[in-house]
Amino acid sequence: MSHSELRKLPSIDRLLQQDAVAAARGQFGHDLTVETARALLDETRAAIVGNGQPCPELAELAAALRVRLHAATQPTLQPVINATGVIIHTNLGRAPLSDDALAAMRLAGEGYSNLEYDLGAGQRGSRYVHAVDLLRRLTGAEDALVVNNNAAAVLLCLMALARGRQVIISRGQLVEIGGGFRIPDVLQTSGAVLVEVGTTNRTHLRDYQAAISPQTAALLRVHSSNFRQIGFTAEVSLAELVTLGQQYNLPVIDDLGSGTLLDTTRFGLAYEPRVQDSVQAGATLVTFSGDKLLGGPQAGLIVGQHAAIARLRQHPLTRALRVDKTTLAGLAAALSHYLRGRAEQQSPVWRMIAAQESELAARAAVWAERLAEAGLNAHVVPSASTVGGGSLPGETLPTRLLALPGLPADRLAARLRTGQPAVVARIVDDALCFDPRTVLPEQDELLLAAILAAFQALL
Ligand SMILES: *Cc1c(COP(=O)(O)O)cnc(C)c1O
Repeated sequence: MSHSELRKLPSIDRLLQQDAVAAARGQFGHDLTVETARALLDETRAAIVGNGQPCPELAELAAALRVRLHAATQPTLQPVINATGVIIHTNLGRAPLSDDALAAMRLAGEGYSNLEYDLGAGQRGSRYVHAVDLLRRLTGAEDALVVNNNAAAVLLCLMALARGRQVIISRGQLVEIGGGFRIPDVLQTSGAVLVEVGTTNRTHLRDYQAAISPQTAALLRVHSSNFRQIGFTAEVSLAELVTLGQQYNLPVIDDLGSGTLLDTTRFGLAYEPRVQDSVQAGATLVTFSGDKLLGGPQAGLIVGQHAAIARLRQHPLTRALRVDKTTLAGLAAALSHYLRGRAEQQSPVWRMIAAQESELAARAAVWAERLAEAGLNAHVVPSASTVGGGSLPGETLPTRLLALPGLPADRLAARLRTGQPAVVARIVDDALCFDPRTVLPEQDELLLAAILAAFQALL
């Protein structure tokens, strides 16, 4: 049996001569097509010999080869519709970018630019000038520097100012951000020596003061981005730390994590530290992320006093942490939304934060209606969205979810995740739910089509 089946298996040349395969060769290239065809035939042969399986028809093999070629050349990084209601979702790529930011990145990427060229003088310039003026104007800082991400920003500050010396930090701020970023580890990597003061829940100014020695290089404050302490707690304010630092001539480094340029309390949220408030309070250096609440591309932004920024700029590590031209272009565009007072309208992150419950309810209702027309049992239920990205822990924004009760939520969710485009939703009370807050309006039709396709595949 398997012998006669084995005889039916085409040679590689015969498979390659099929019209469909010849076309695939044009599309995917000769080498990849031949290599994939060889692997396919080897596996088919093994299945015939090992499992006694029948030999597929030639046309079937040709079709299987196309599927494999397609899969091999598809980018693994693909768009996802975020229906989770978590606005800054680190696993889903954090901040979606504004149209202006995307256009600026495209423009910087498709041709040459004055990235490191002074057009006025006709000579070499610096890539570090591009976002500096915007950051200075928006934060009130004397100077600014942009690096790869905020983890890099913190590392650079510590290396440049405190390597081989001591950095004082409250025990309540020895945080783990996620993705393996732990403040004690970063300190160790930088070559600075960690000096912990206070207790987990309470740290006083006198604790810092008692720890200051000739070995002290800096005072570090880290925003407890992703958790909140309640009850019997005490923290030293940044202003108090700055005063202490001035007394002993010590720089104060303030890692804000997300940081924000807009006042989050205006949106019914708790206060998330504003960058300009830290600058105003007198921090020597303030670090924050480009792709959290700022709503730009991945970057680490450092603003602060000129002399300290100058030291960072000269540090050899800065070269290793430097940002790409498309990042600088996107960042400048994202920052200019704030300069023009248009972030709420133009930055997707702030549009999502600012979206009114009534608006979300209307969208969810339209989704439910459309799905009901197609025979699905769809409801609109009140719920809450979160900001995410290690900011505003425990804070929520009221929303309305589209819920699909009575369907196997796990199986439907798995279908949606592996569809094209992929959809990530959340399960509430055994029902798969979709939060319109984080679904971009132009994705509505794609989402509905994906839900219907996943539903039909379950039948
Ligand atoms: C998010 C965060 C970081 C890391 O920022 P990345 O931009 O992700 O590198 C560092 N510190 C704090 C307090 C954070 O919240």
